[in-house]
Amino acid sequence: MPLVVQKFGGTSVADPEKILAAARKAIRAQQEGKQVVVVVSAMGHNTDLLIDLARQVNDSPPAREMDMLLSTGEQVSVALMAMAVHSLGYSAVSLTGAQLGIQTDSAFTKARIRTISADRIQRLLSDGNIVIAAGFQGIDDDLNITTLGRGGSDTTAVALAAVLHADACEIHTDVDGVYTTDPRQLPEARQMSRISYDEMLELASLGAGVMHNRSIEFAKKYGVPIHVRSSFSDTRGTLIVTEGESPSSAVCGAAMTRDEARITIAGVPDEPGSSCEIFKLLAERKITVDMIVQNVGQENRADISFTVPKEELKKAAKAVREAVQIVGATGFTQDDEVSKISVVGLGMAEQTGVAEHMFRAIADAGINIQMITTSEIKLSVLVSRTEALAALRAVHQSFQLSRRPTDAVAWDVLPERMPTQADLEKLVADLRAADMEQLSLSDISLVDDQARITLLGVPDSPGLAADVFDAVAAQGIFVDMIVQSYDGFQGETGISFTIPRTQYAQCMEMMEELKSKFSVRRVQGSEDIAKLSVSGIGLRSHTSVAIGMFQVLAEAGINVEMINTSELRVNVVVESRAGQEALSWLRTRFADNLI
Ligand code: ADP
Ligand code: ASP
Ligand code: MG
Repeated sequence: MPLVVQKFGGTSVADPEKILAAARKAIRAQQEGKQVVVVVSAMGHNTDLLIDLARQVNDSPPAREMDMLLSTGEQVSVALMAMAVHSLGYSAVSLTGAQLGIQTDSAFTKARIRTISADRIQRLLSDGNIVIAAGFQGIDDDLNITTLGRGGSDTTAVALAAVLHADACEIHTDVDGVYTTDPRQLPEARQMSRISYDEMLELASLGAGVMHNRSIEFAKKYGVPIHVRSSFSDTRGTLIVTEGESPSSAVCGAAMTRDEARITIAGVPDEPGSSCEIFKLLAERKITVDMIVQNVGQENRADISFTVPKEELKKAAKAVREAVQIVGATGFTQDDEVSKISVVGLGMAEQTGVAEHMFRAIADAGINIQMITTSEIKLSVLVSRTEALAALRAVHQSFQLSRRPTDAVAWDVLPERMPTQADLEKLVADLRAADMEQLSLSDISLVDDQARITLLGVPDSPGLAADVFDAVAAQGIFVDMIVQSYDGFQGETGISFTIPRTQYAQCMEMMEELKSKFSVRRVQGSEDIAKLSVSGIGLRSHTSVAIGMFQVLAEAGINVEMINTSELRVNVVVESRAGQEALSWLRTRFADNLI
């Protein structure tokens, strides 16, 4: 019998009428001959209200008690939803996370699912019930209630769809589907017919709050097709599947993370272990670090910039103050008025000039770029918060995201099937044997045919990055990694990028010529670099990977020259003669995580 998981978000169960409407949708699916599992969030803004309530009695409430409190939001919804189904003449049973058998680790407020036992759900379904599951919650080994992080009901839904081998996982929400960017920020955003797991994973992590990023990790790992659609109408929605909407588009969507903060540590001794020390201190305090940019320094000193969520700045600054002392850096600056704008697309890995295009769009809007980081399928820049929306609009417009791609895959092309029977058996065995959300890496590799170019003392003004990469693209030079750091001390920035080694001489010559035009103080480069990449799923939410890489390399006395991180991959650049040795250290360090 086909099985469908239907998830209803907060707005979709905000009042009794909406709960009844959701119950009708579930009943309709059952009448169509399907077994139905409904996952619900807390009603409306109940989770926010509970958080607010907690803060009124305690500035920093204990995380365990926070989970005890927040889980009640979903408990209210499941009971009401089950009652609604009964009132319409059908049977339903509501279950909390613990009753569902969702076992998690003990990381309160951001727990990861370890296992789910499907027996009870299956029994209830076989008896003809609609099963109403509380989203966002689980239970640890000591029977403590845990929650999965804000937006975590999506993850409950996809995880249940995976273990139950559902035919579909429908995410019913307050928009018609996944848009090219948040339609509440930019009304010109366009709804996509489909998007790939990889693109959605990046977008979700870069600010597209429509899906919880960890739900997409699950979906990709276990091949669950997701169907995002409106709770309030029957429009088609968006499929999240293996293949995206258009095979040829470089960019499929854009996202903004509004409330970011930047920290720049200046004068960090450029020697193995310095950055490791800094990030270890931050990791110990569970601070989420993003956009790490380490620029090749002057006089054996480097600048390290990174961003943290604005609300974590105070904690981060405290840790950084200690780190500055420990590593002997000169000092640090901070700015909590910044936002991150990103574009994402599988196609950008194959096309040149995408970065330059984005930088130009922002420059033409007269907006200064403070930091840049790139990876294979995403580009992120940091701008001042007051200019963030204008930057998002400029980028969205310039990549023509409002226009449907001409080669868009037709909607009636069915999503690929769920895993085959053999896949399913392996999957179930996997689930029994290991954590569902365990870090799994697909590859650790070394590329050593690249070179690095670094521009030092670059004026921090709008258009500079666009001009530089325009010139590089005009010469047909293929740029891979780009990082631009922020130098809060001298009002200058530094830009480093990697190119094929065969184009090194040409690029150096060109940069020397353009130095005075761009008012760049110094051009520096290295023909001998190696890029090491660790690939997998959800590497940013498993922050231990970047830290682990730093640690291993520091212990081996290998200096990290550049780094970039994304959901799918962490890349570091080291001297080429250290490449092979670094590779084997990394393979040893992550041996247990390789699949
Ligand atoms: P739910 O309560 O149903 O989980 P959320 O508020 O978590 O709903 O997610 C839906 C919201 O996500 C939308 O109202 C929209 O403002 C926001 N959003 C952000 N980025 C996107 C995007 N790219 N496409 C669609 N919605 C987006
Ligand atoms: N109620 C939780 C939240 O608001 C979980 C969710 O809605 O997905 O974050
Ligand atoms: Mg949500």
